[in-house]
Amino acid sequence: MKRVCIMGGGLGGLMTGALLAKEGYRVTVLEKNRIIGGGLQSFRRGKYLFDTGMHIFGGMGPDGQIRLICRYLGIEERVKTAPRRVVVTDACDSYPEAYTEKIHALTEQEPLYRLKPSEVEYRLTDLSLTAKELVEQTARSAEELRLLAYPSLLYGGREDSPAFLHALISCAHQQGTYTFTDGSVHFAELLAEVIENAGGEVRSGETVTGIETSGRQVSAVHTDKGTYTADLYVNDMPVSKLLELTPAGAFTPAFRSRIGAVPYTMSAMSVFIGLKPRSMRYDGEAWFAMQDSCELWSMDECAEEAWPQAMFALPSEDSDNPGFAATITAVCPMNYDYVKRWEQSVTGQRPKEYYRWKERMMHQAIDVICEKLGASREMMAYMDAGTPLTIRDYYGTPRGAMYGMHRSSSNPLQSSLSTRTRLTNLYLTGQDVNFHGLIGTSLTAILTAEAIVGHNTIVNKINDTI
Ligand SMILES: Cc1cc2nc3c(=O)[nH]c(=O)nc-3n(C[C@H](O)[C@H](O)[C@H](O)COP(=O)(O)OP(=O)(O)OC[C@H]3O[C@@H](n4cnc5c(N)ncnc54)[C@H](O)[C@@H]3O)c2cc1C
Repeated sequence: MKRVCIMGGGLGGLMTGALLAKEGYRVTVLEKNRIIGGGLQSFRRGKYLFDTGMHIFGGMGPDGQIRLICRYLGIEERVKTAPRRVVVTDACDSYPEAYTEKIHALTEQEPLYRLKPSEVEYRLTDLSLTAKELVEQTARSAEELRLLAYPSLLYGGREDSPAFLHALISCAHQQGTYTFTDGSVHFAELLAEVIENAGGEVRSGETVTGIETSGRQVSAVHTDKGTYTADLYVNDMPVSKLLELTPAGAFTPAFRSRIGAVPYTMSAMSVFIGLKPRSMRYDGEAWFAMQDSCELWSMDECAEEAWPQAMFALPSEDSDNPGFAATITAVCPMNYDYVKRWEQSVTGQRPKEYYRWKERMMHQAIDVICEKLGASREMMAYMDAGTPLTIRDYYGTPRGAMYGMHRSSSNPLQSSLSTRTRLTNLYLTGQDVNFHGLIGTSLTAILTAEAIVGHNTIVNKINDTI
């Protein structure tokens, strides 16, 4: 049985591990945090349960990509999700035909998006059209412009973001949006179970500290607790972290400087609110809210006093009081530069000034939540917030980037990575490689696993389950 060592136990690492476990590989996943899952982590405060990095997603409809992958992995019945309606603007909620046609045409470029076998293993997608151009060409009014632009919060949209990326998310959302109902971490736990049932292990609280190479191969991975050897290695850590941990000669200077020059997607402040019982009605809706002054393609750029310009707010239902909300989580794009002055500090030991600033910004966000969701502070029993530094330190992403490396229409080659590397037994997975989010990272995991087991092998097997 071939052994695979996976560095990083986020969605990318666990999904790749689960797919390889199904193919008969013995998988070891090494995750630095005590709780596995990376962006799938959830946390509890008393009776309140909050998700940290997986709030809304597509792919769970009858033919949805995530549903079909889960069916193949044998966990479909145990994944707990519920549909959610996303409200963007009260003024309009139907998409112009031209826009819908265009996003469908764009996704047709990528057979994997529909879980269809592809002729070639690696092909550079045409990213020349920008999301901004797509939206401006198809929106017929200012309200429609906002409706069409809202997915940009879900990929950190900039003026040069590719329309293709926008289309992948928008298309999936048009087919139905969902949330996890029992904490997103339960999805991570199900993937870990697939790995463990096949004889593998998922080791949490174990930080990769060094990667040893010999010639064009990885020979060992060192952690703060021990050393691991395997036949194959897969990286799910941010690619910048991989480069930091490998010897200088393992990758070419050109590759290192290319990765060093890639900009990162925007960061965010997440606000977590626990509500008093039966204080706010729950109607299954999630809100995308934007100030009139919000710049659609730079939602994180504004003066601190004018922050937040946009947010995604998601109430959850109270299982003890159906019809009422238990929590509200709001993700508000925030520029990393706001917290740069404290970037040398570590979790739990930041200066007092940081905590005062965080409190102030959290209340600015709560003001918007109250206004947009008709909530009030009297309803709230618990409130806390995570900043760009929280994201940076928990997931290890540079500048607390929500979605990893930024993709640009003007420089597609810079951020498009192959799942194979110069080191013949090392593969890449995770949001930096291709696409992010629940669907993007999972599809990338298929590409990574297929680079090992054979082109189209897994996609064909998934199709056999339909
Ligand atoms: C605030 C926020 C909200 C989001 N909302 C959504 C959403 O609603 N819908 C959606 O689809 N996507 C959302 N995303 C994006 C989504 O969370 C990510 O795209 C996805 O989880 C990426 O998975 P990954 O495995 O590539 O990376 P990660 O989940 O970051 O996993 C990488 C793992 O590597 C580990 N690691 C790093 N360094 C080391 C080391 N030295 N040793 C061992 N382990 C290490 C990290 O701890 C982490 O667990 C959101 C992200 C954020 C930050």
